[in-house]
Amino acid sequence: MYGYSCEYCEGTVKERMVEKEVFKHKSGFVMLENVPVGICDNCGYRYYHSTILKRVDEIAEDKGSPKRTEPIPVAQYIYGLAS
Ligand SMILES: [Zn+2]
Repeated sequence: MYGYSCEYCEGTVKERMVEKEVFKHKSGFVMLENVPVGICDNCGYRYYHSTILKRVDEIAEDKGSPKRTEPIPVAQYIYGLAS
């Protein structure tokens, strides 16, 4: 699925199973579990295979019947404000 060269550095994109990954879609957020994500072994850039993005589309557009729905906490990351 992966194993190609990173677009941004000299690293190699390695497949890694991620327990939970949140995707931003134009109609909201979708969380997938046990996703094979491609992660560059040098810079850490994440790649998503087209089949994963297709699945996100399906679920976001209500065709893929999600197993369940979980609320996703969303926060701004602002450095230095939490004290
Ligand atoms: Zn890279």
